Amino acid sequence: MARVLNFSAGPAQLPLAVLERAAKEMTDYGNTGTSVMEMSHRSKAFEGILHKSKDDLRKLMAIPENYDILYMQGGASTQFAAVPLNLLGDKTAADYADTGAWSDKAIKEAKKYCDVNVVASSKAEIYNHIPDLDKSKFNPEAAYFHFTCNNTIYGTKWTNLPEVGNVPLITDMSSSILSEPVDVSKYGVIYAGAQKNIGPAGLVIVIIRKDLLELSKEKAKKMTPTMLRYDICAENDSMYNTPPTYSIYIAGLVFEYLLGLGGLDEMKKRNVAKADLLYGFLDNSKMFKATVRPQDRSLMNVPFITGNEELDDKCVKAATAAGMINLKGHRSVGGLRASIYNAIDLDGVKTLVNFLEKFEKENA
Ligand code: PMP
Repeated sequence: MARVLNFSAGPAQLPLAVLERAAKEMTDYGNTGTSVMEMSHRSKAFEGILHKSKDDLRKLMAIPENYDILYMQGGASTQFAAVPLNLLGDKTAADYADTGAWSDKAIKEAKKYCDVNVVASSKAEIYNHIPDLDKSKFNPEAAYFHFTCNNTIYGTKWTNLPEVGNVPLITDMSSSILSEPVDVSKYGVIYAGAQKNIGPAGLVIVIIRKDLLELSKEKAKKMTPTMLRYDICAENDSMYNTPPTYSIYIAGLVFEYLLGLGGLDEMKKRNVAKADLLYGFLDNSKMFKATVRPQDRSLMNVPFITGNEELDDKCVKAATAAGMINLKGHRSVGGLRASIYNAIDLDGVKTLVNFLEKFEKENA
């Protein structure tokens, strides 16, 4: 069967060139006579894969030397616990912004370990915007400030970073990492589940400022499982145990591929062009409507509705029949959602817009 256009929010479409290369190397990686999946993680060949992937990610995101890159496991959700367990230090409270279901889960998890101060929430409006921040609500004694910089389900994105002074800024970048350049030096920790713009689900990338590694070494909560300790992961080069070797290999192929395309400036150009095309269509349509106000719109996740559930369903089904899958909105919001991660190119979005235009004419 021909490949479909997959608008899933994750696990998501990967670049075909990466999949084809992995297929080619599946049974014999670099003349080793084995698959990466079968290789010892202590072998020279795997160490080469691990280190090249980290070097390439550092180049791609311009990660400064005072930051480490950790490969961890358990999906982004495991970081909801790892963050407070490692980073509270002597403090007992942390600030959280509540901008979606994933923020909410991060908050619920953190509440097991500290006092959570929710500085702002858009929950009452079903998370359809990024709330304004009132600095007087920040806790000056917070160990860190946590926010979800791109909200996968609701399609909102923070365009201005919270001004938190010396309080470490921690962000869940699962659904926007590698979509555009970011100034890593503004953050204490960036973490991201891999299954959108990076590779297989389960792998989590953690980019952490080195002083926070020291903090976890000296002050992580005693109960912290060894596998969740940032300092131990760093000291062991992300190989305290057998790491998810194949996932790291695929992530490395994606990093190399993106560097070859011109890096994150180029990805941003492409992603802005894609998003402009889709939002432009939605804003001019009489049938479809984007649910997020323009200033908070995600480049990666575009939710939209017709206002009629039956018509939404009909549209999703017709799209599937036309080779465009996973356009159904998240079960908590309904409607439709097109996730247009890096691997969906401008032609893919044009195909979608042409389909929606035709659907609108035929169902007017
Ligand atoms: N955070 C965000 C922003 C997400 O989109 C997701 C998953 N879609 C998660 C966290 C949870 O990731 P995981 O399933 O890898 O735990």
